[in-house]
Amino acid sequence: MGAGRYDVIVVGARVAGAATAMLLARQGLRVLAVDRVSFPSDTVSSHQLQVPGAALLYRWGLLGQLTAAATPPVRRVRFDAGGGLVMDGQFPGHDGVDALYSPRRTLLDSVLVEAAREAGAEIRENFRVTQVTASGGRVTGIRGSARGRPAVTETASLVIGADGKRSLVAAAVGARRYRERPVRSFASYSYWAGIPVPDGELYQRPGRAVAVFPTNDELTMVYVAAPVTEFASARTNLEGHYLRTLDQCADLGERVRSGSRAERLRTTPDQPNTFRRPHGPGWALVGDAGVVMDSVSAQGMTNALRDASYLSAAVIAGLGGSRPLAAALRGHQRRRDRAIRGMYDFTLGLAAFSRATPGQRRFLAAVAADQRETDRFLGAFAGIVPPEQYFTLGTVVRILGPRGIRKYRTSEVGGTAARAVSGRVT
Ligand SMILES: Cc1cc2nc3c(=O)[nH]c(=O)nc-3n(C[C@H](O)[C@H](O)[C@H](O)COP(=O)(O)OP(=O)(O)OC[C@H]3O[C@@H](n4cnc5c(N)ncnc54)[C@H](O)[C@@H]3O)c2cc1C
Repeated sequence: MGAGRYDVIVVGARVAGAATAMLLARQGLRVLAVDRVSFPSDTVSSHQLQVPGAALLYRWGLLGQLTAAATPPVRRVRFDAGGGLVMDGQFPGHDGVDALYSPRRTLLDSVLVEAAREAGAEIRENFRVTQVTASGGRVTGIRGSARGRPAVTETASLVIGADGKRSLVAAAVGARRYRERPVRSFASYSYWAGIPVPDGELYQRPGRAVAVFPTNDELTMVYVAAPVTEFASARTNLEGHYLRTLDQCADLGERVRSGSRAERLRTTPDQPNTFRRPHGPGWALVGDAGVVMDSVSAQGMTNALRDASYLSAAVIAGLGGSRPLAAALRGHQRRRDRAIRGMYDFTLGLAAFSRATPGQRRFLAAVAADQRETDRFLGAFAGIVPPEQYFTLGTVVRILGPRGIRKYRTSEVGGTAARAVSGRVT
């Protein structure tokens, strides 16, 4: 299938890269995937894998490995919007899966890497790419080295950057950015023992979003997001900032203090929001390298898995000759952008931490009073129903009725109803 020793080289082998390598190798392509780390490996990421992400693992035959490692399925979530507004509901099912999972990255990324290996991909761990090679304006391969070894060059028909939000591949090819927005929030999270939670918990407080989910080893992951403008002052005492936020969330602070912190607190303000053009001559991008967004909506891994599925279909069509590769990759960009745009805008709305208007609170109260609507709302919040399909004027009218909608000021509905309702629930 073309020049190069490999059909495809994938740089980066976590959720996006390992999944892409696995899907391509399962179709018989000669795939090399490299990563500068060795697995199992942790990374700065909390790790709610939303129902659609879990459904992809199920389709690929890998979800059982998460459950076998005692990753608790979470079917219910309690959403506390503050001021006594609480919704308690169940995630809608998606493609045969009805639970969210929070596997540790040491587990999830290893499962994917092993699946890629098993499918026939060559995986080189501890291998750092330092350069993307090109000839006549077309990417031809990579140059890099395994730890302590001399540099080598490897060639392929296509080099895929799955190397995360600070992608070397994207920088090397000058991938154009679009829809870029400034960093909005910083996040802190840690793992707690002795505070078991059977369900997920989400809290919205002024200037804060909090998520609590059970993970492996009977630990509970507790995550806090706050405006990045507070980062400089919070820095002097990050743990104090984190615990003070938990104290605002019903009895959460008390529960957490009654347990013990099992690992250090991780904090990061490195949360860019951007799309990148994901293809060009001899190259493509997948996962965070292609689209990255604030972690407040916990969508990055699900996006990465979906992107891996879409991109690998395009690459198989393009390299297999059923469609010109460039056209297949252009089609992939359109499909990716359509799938992710609504959630991207919704996420930016959440990360703005705006206060809810009275109309929005009326909307939320009406949702909370109706179990079916609560489940639908939670489904949109988790990306099971695309947020742009749920947060519409039609939904507001359906829930508040024609009388209620009149009280909803024009400014609250104005622009798109999605913006009016989403991300403004505090
Ligand atoms: C604080 C925080 C919380 C988050 N919480 C969630 C959540 O709850 N749910 C969710 O779905 N997402 C969450 N995310 C987002 C999620 O972590 C990312 O979207 C996801 O990891 C993207 O996967 P990826 O494979 O594209 O990139 P990455 O996971 O970043 O992997 C990139 C890989 O490329 C390798 N690499 C990079 N450069 C090179 C090089 N030059 N040579 C060789 N290898 C290289 C790296 O070693 C790395 O292993 C969170 C993110 C943050 C920051």
